[in-house]
Amino acid sequence: MLGPVILAASRSDRMRRFVSAAPGTKQVVGRFIAGETVEQVIPIVRDAAGKGLEVTLDVVGEDITTREQAFAARDAYLDLVEHLKGLGLGERAEMSVKLSMFGQSLPSPAATLNGGPSGPAPQFPGGHELALANVRPVVEAAAAIGTTVTLDAEDHTTLDSMFAIHEELRKDFPQTGCVIQAYLFRTEDDARRLSGAGSRVRIVKGAYKEPAGVAFQDKAEIDKAYVRILKILMAGDGYPMIGSHDPRLIAISQELARRAGRKLDEYEFQMLYGIRSEEHVRLAAEGHRMRVYTAYGTDWYGYFMRRLAEKPANLLFFVRSMITK
Ligand code: FAD
Repeated sequence: MLGPVILAASRSDRMRRFVSAAPGTKQVVGRFIAGETVEQVIPIVRDAAGKGLEVTLDVVGEDITTREQAFAARDAYLDLVEHLKGLGLGERAEMSVKLSMFGQSLPSPAATLNGGPSGPAPQFPGGHELALANVRPVVEAAAAIGTTVTLDAEDHTTLDSMFAIHEELRKDFPQTGCVIQAYLFRTEDDARRLSGAGSRVRIVKGAYKEPAGVAFQDKAEIDKAYVRILKILMAGDGYPMIGSHDPRLIAISQELARRAGRKLDEYEFQMLYGIRSEEHVRLAAEGHRMRVYTAYGTDWYGYFMRRLAEKPANLLFFVRSMITK
């Protein structure tokens, strides 16, 4: 029951101010957020590479409210690419982006999109064009250093726009990845559409508060959907990225990959920084490609609250750390 309450709080400005100022917050946030600056995260990337792990780097932030913030997000990722260049890790260090941080969530007057009020209704709401214009240079810069970008999946209202941007980017950068969420009814169809040669798709359970009209609410139903989608991706010609910490789903993925005749480098596992870290190393030692989603930056609130919602024990730990400070 706590999960949905925490997810609702993740979008409240009042809660954001309260949580950010609470004593003990920094200590708990530090478990999931690798640092505040790119200088702090680069040694973590080096350390991960030394352990045979790969990374996908996320500059935290979402649902920005001004165009300046959208440009700042683009610049933060371009700066990250500059730092990655020196490491020479190629696609072993890729990036994940949330389009709502690149301007997708901004209202954008129809006039600027479609030639005035008499033009056709916009196909996508908000700052779709702005997000595409902002993310393109990041994808270009990533390709120039031999790596890639994956578009994270946010709440269901943003997904048509995300998939359209993904398709547009893939015309020039076919290796651009995207994320699909098992809890959504639409996702089996999306998986079929995205399972062709050259496509890179991360499958996750889904981390947002979604209504019963669009998403499974029951954990067992979500797990069953995840397996159905895994089967589609493994049987396809694309490159599945299995984003989960769930031991059962990891075992099922291994079995499905084996049955599909996939070699160890024809799919990969992905987990979040700070969660089941010993499992990251164990899977890599078994010869699997294991990528750690490593989030850093100062706008950590939304990301942090989703991590609390996934495991209520995290909330208890958080509350305890506030009391004992
Ligand atoms: P669960 O059943 O939730 O967890 C299995 C076990 O993992 C738990 O029993 C626990 O031991 C451990 N665990 C899981 N979460 C936590 C936690 N927060 N703290 C401590 N232990 C935990 N969601 C999106 O909606 N869009 C995205 O773009 C997206 N990208 C992701 C990228 C990666 C690499 C990963 C791993 C997840 C991503 N997610 C994303 C989040 C995802 O949707 C789930 O919310 C999250 O992964 C928890 O689901 P699970 O598969 O790990 O299974």
